[in-house]
Amino acid sequence: MTMPNCPKCNSEYTYVDGEMFVCPECANEWSANDVDSAEDVLTAKDAHGNTLVDGDSVTVIKDLKVRGSSMVVKQGTMIKGIRIVEGDHNLDCKVNGTSLQLKSEFMKKA
Ligand SMILES: [Zn+2]
Repeated sequence: MTMPNCPKCNSEYTYVDGEMFVCPECANEWSANDVDSAEDVLTAKDAHGNTLVDGDSVTVIKDLKVRGSSMVVKQGTMIKGIRIVEGDHNLDCKVNGTSLQLKSEFMKKA
C-alpha cells in the first residue's frame, strides 16, 4: 500500500494509525475518507434544482433542437448515464447513439 503525501505539508513520511493517516512532520491527522470527499466532483442542477451527478438518468422536459443538425430531442426522452462537464451545455450524454451536450436546466431527474 502506498502512503499518500500529507495534504498539509506534502511530506512523504506519513503512516497509518488505526483509521487515520498521520504526518510526523506537521502532526496533521486525516482519514482516508476525507481524501475521497475532497475530490472536486462536478454537479449540475435540473429544472427543479435537484442535484445531478455522473451516471444519473434524466428526462427531457421540452423539445430540444440540437444545434447544427435537424435532430430534435423530444420532450419525455429518457437519457441514461449522463456525465457532468464544465460549461454552458453541462450534460454529456448519448441519445439514440448520438453523443450530445445538453443543458441540465431542460432536464428532470428520473
Ligand atoms: Zn504534514
